This record gives sequence, structure tokens and C-alpha cells, in this order.
Amino acid sequence: MRHRSDTNPRRALALGAAILAAPVGAAEVPDPRIDCAFPGGNAIVESIENDTVILKQDRRDTEGWWFYWYFRVQGAAGRTLNFKFTDGAPVGVRGPAISLDEGLSWEWLGKERSTTNAFSYAFGEDARSVRFSFGMPYTETNLGAFLKRFSGNPALKVETLCQSRKGRPVEFLRLGCIDGAPQARVFITCRHHCCEMMASYAVEGIAESVLADDDAGRWFREHVAFGIVPFVDKDGVEDGDQGKNRRPHDHNRDYGNNGIYAETRAIRALLPRWSGGHLCITLDLHCPSIRGGENEHIYQVGKEPPDQWARQQDFGKILEDVRQGPLPYKASGDLPFGQKWNTAKNYAAGTSFCQWAHTVPGVWLATSFELPYANASGFEVTARTARYFGHDIARALRRYLEQIPNTARVITTGENPTGSIQAH
Ligand SMILES: [Zn+2]
Repeated sequence: MRHRSDTNPRRALALGAAILAAPVGAAEVPDPRIDCAFPGGNAIVESIENDTVILKQDRRDTEGWWFYWYFRVQGAAGRTLNFKFTDGAPVGVRGPAISLDEGLSWEWLGKERSTTNAFSYAFGEDARSVRFSFGMPYTETNLGAFLKRFSGNPALKVETLCQSRKGRPVEFLRLGCIDGAPQARVFITCRHHCCEMMASYAVEGIAESVLADDDAGRWFREHVAFGIVPFVDKDGVEDGDQGKNRRPHDHNRDYGNNGIYAETRAIRALLPRWSGGHLCITLDLHCPSIRGGENEHIYQVGKEPPDQWARQQDFGKILEDVRQGPLPYKASGDLPFGQKWNTAKNYAAGTSFCQWAHTVPGVWLATSFELPYANASGFEVTARTARYFGHDIARALRRYLEQIPNTARVITTGENPTGSIQAH
């Protein structure tokens, strides 16, 4: 199995550091065992002394600093340990996320017991294995658990986009109106930057809405075909890489003519074929940076072409209007092109998915969202609330598709506009 982490020399080094720091018989209380030998794992343990663990995130091939880490502690039941990071301030605004069930579910520790580069944790008397991470990791295991809920559902097909560089199958989900003649298509990508896991829960929420046994679900399944690439950087997700600013460039700067990643090359081949020049919306989901400013509210990343920005604003106003979930969103918080980090300089390393997608025939709106890791305008981002945000996006997609002018259908489909989508 190529993705076994014990074949990864960097991770083996990290594990070695943990073992070296735990001399047998050096103390009456044995040192806890710390490792990251599981999908998504990432940490380098520098030392363990008494109740203090000194560690850092493993940046690997990242250009510059980034903040993803994910490790497991065993053998610490009943103790309180202090964790101190030596590379910057990689603890988020609600502290670390903690899982007591090997990564299936997570909750934030809270900022009371954490700083920007340290936290302490009191292990329960029966805490055999506790996982800690910057966010709430979401890997192939989580996707598998989600898809299992819908196994046998005729409105969902799990296909393979391509093989990753390391030979892993990269999933392509088709759902909604997959056998009929859809009147619109929605193509969703996530994890162009593999560490941005909270966005994956929003993707689950969108898929839940499309497959739901309710009026909206039935409407989607009658009118709209969805194609979803849940892990664009599949190897990065499973290996626990940062992925953002990966050298020589990351997956979301790989949509020029000489793409270097298997997944982006496959998407460039697939999307024009899959949408066939028909009306299509593309949605690329991300998480922002770690803290402060726009990193703590949900926003769309404004596109440079004025017509795209106008459509993003239309979509944003609808989302603001139809939102029912707990995570706030305001169209006025969207980031126009030319402001803050969203400038031409930011795309000097290469073409992004959105920049490429809006040139594909039939694509009416190519937008991207930034969903914060932990704090959205004062509200807690969790797996659950991020899914609700996905439900909100689905609600907005329906309203938006119902309102797209018939002229768009003429331009993008070449068909008689009487086939426009109407609310039921
Ligand atoms: Zn991103």
C-alpha cells in the first residue's frame, strides 16, 4: 500500500524523534506515545520532558510558513500535558480540535486553555488515544463514511477522476440529475489546498441537500447535475501535507497549459466534456489563513472580469437572503479583486481553477468561497455548522438558477429558452 505512512521518510523521522525523546526507564512515569502514522497525520516532535511536549508542524515542501498539524497521543490517561509549538503560532482561534474517537468526530478545546502557540490538555482516566489537530481533519475515511449513508441511492454515483501521482484513486462524485437531461450543471471542487479541511464539511452539506428526501432535493434531482471533486490534492490530504504554496506551485495555480498535477490535468479535460457547453456554475471551496480580518468571516473571492464579479455579487445577495444556518454570511464581506491579498501578484505563480473555469464554454458563474477554520463572525465553525453552510449554498444555488435570465441559456446552451428552470 503506497499510502502507508510508515513508508514516508519524513513521517518516519517525526516518529523517530518521538521515540528518541522517550528513553526507556528514564522516569517512573513512562512518556506518552505521540505519533502521526495515520491518514492526514503531520507533526515533528522535538522533545518530551516531564509533562511538556515540544513540537512543530511539518512544513515539507511549503514555500514559506503554514500552520497545519495533526497528531495522536497515547499512554497519557489521567495526566495533564502541555504542548508547545516552536515554529510560529499555529494554534487557531478556538484552540486545537480534539477527537476521542480516532478522528471521526471533533470539538474545539477552546481558547481558555490555549494560546497561539501552545495548549494544555487534561487526559481523562480512560483516554487511551486522543487526537489533536489545527482543524477538524477530513480524509478519505470521512468521505467513505459519508457516502456509505447514501449507498444504493440512484441519484449518486462514485466514479474515479484519475489516479494521483502516488497512485491513489481520486474520487469524482456525480449526483442529482445524473441520468436525465439536466437544465443546469454545478461543478464543485474542494481541497485544491489539501489542509483546508473545514470546506469538506460544507461540500457534504451541499450533497446532503441534493440527495435529501424533500422538495429541494427532488427539484435538484430533476433539474441539476452535480459533479464534485472532493479532494483535488488527494495525496496531500492523505499524507497530511500543508498543500498551500507547495513548491514549485500548488494545485490552485496549476491551470495553465502545462499543468504538473494529475488531478488538475484531469479536471481540465473533464469539465468541458462534462458540461458540454451547457449552462454551468463552478464552485471552488477553500479555507483562508489562520486568524484576523477576513480570515474570520465567510467570503467570496472576487474575480477580475467585471461580469464575473457582478454575478458573484448577485449570488452573494441571494445567499445572504436565503441563509438559514448558524454561520453568518454577508455579500458586503466579499473580497473584490485588487484588494488585500486578492491581486494579480497573488496569481503570478500560475492560473487558478476559477480563472480557468470561467473561460470554459457554458460556465456562467465561476466563484470560490473562503470558509474560516474556527470562527465565522463570532460563530463556531464545526463539522456540523459547516454542513449547514453547505445547505445554505444549495438553497442559494436553487434560487440563483431559477433567476438566471433566459438569455444566459440561449448564449450558453444554444437551445430554445423555453427550457428554463421554474420553481415548483
Ligand atoms: Zn485555498
